[in-house]
Amino acid sequence: MKTSEVLHAWGAILAGRRPSLSIELTRECPLRCPGCYAYEDAHLGTAGITLRQLSDSKGSALVQGVLRVVEERRPLHLSLVGGDPLVRYRELLELLPELDRRGIHVQLVTSAFREIPAEWNALSRLNIVVSVDGLQPEHDVRRKPATYERILKCIAHSRVSVHCTITSQMMHREGYLEEFVKFWSLRKETKRIWFSIFTPQKGAVDPEILTVQERTRAIAELLRLREVYPLLDMYASAIKEFEHPPASPRDCIFASTTTTISADLKTRVTPCQFGGDPNCSQCGCIASMGLAAVGHHQLLPGITTGQIFTVSQLIGRSVNALRSFGQSNEAVVEPEVEVEEETRVA
Ligand code: SF4
Ligand code: SF4
Repeated sequence: MKTSEVLHAWGAILAGRRPSLSIELTRECPLRCPGCYAYEDAHLGTAGITLRQLSDSKGSALVQGVLRVVEERRPLHLSLVGGDPLVRYRELLELLPELDRRGIHVQLVTSAFREIPAEWNALSRLNIVVSVDGLQPEHDVRRKPATYERILKCIAHSRVSVHCTITSQMMHREGYLEEFVKFWSLRKETKRIWFSIFTPQKGAVDPEILTVQERTRAIAELLRLREVYPLLDMYASAIKEFEHPPASPRDCIFASTTTTISADLKTRVTPCQFGGDPNCSQCGCIASMGLAAVGHHQLLPGITTGQIFTVSQLIGRSVNALRSFGQSNEAVVEPEVEVEEETRVA
């Protein structure tokens, strides 16, 4: 994270806002990936309602809806996830240039099942993240129809960040992660390579869950590979955070600084983008680890960035409380989502 970005985010927190917003742009996805958290029953935390059952919008209703949420939340960084956001590529053709014009950094997370328009290369604040589930034989089984062949065609005119979630199956074969990094390092379309580690829900028994030994080996391997392959764009300090993830959502800077909203543009996904009841002790989210590393950074002897963050959050909550007080005196009625947010943080 650049110093200017940290200062911007700090300013937003002091003002009582969350600097990062994630929107599940659509409930639809042509894939059925094993281990996908978005379609789990508990994802939305609402009994009996899953992402597929939520109402979502299309066309200008979606474009205007997203811009309205962005105006309300004023994030510095916006992630567009799904379902697969490319299902709504016509809306994205309008939305992405507008968000760029507003100076918002956007991360579009996709399986690249559809061609990524070359005109998006001109959007300097856009980062396209393509999810790849390991080497071709395993990936193609898990992510059909977004196979390697199809992804390579769809990203042919783009430069993308390749993101792989490490699963237990990948750790069964020695050298697997290196083969993956080598393959994608040689592709001209690859801007950078990121890894997360599969994060289960509490009590889950998915075959993707790494054992303690596999997790330790994965961390050691990533620390080694980052020295050899420059496109593996992960700080050693962030990789080491995989050794001791945040104890709970309350301890997770990522969860505290990011608001996730689902496809109806109203429902909040909590406590973080995984929804449900994630097992923080086995968290492998790259964003959470990156921010934890920032939080553990010593600013001054005995003072970490995380301690400054906690104090800033308290100030931000007071700002929100004062704002709510002023508004209730003026009999202003806040939109429902905003009231929920203020109640949550106050
Ligand atoms: S592409 Fe993403 S949203 Fe779609 S099924 Fe796979 S993991 Fe889930
Ligand atoms: S991102 Fe990871 S550590 Fe943070 S709340 Fe979610 S599961 Fe827990």
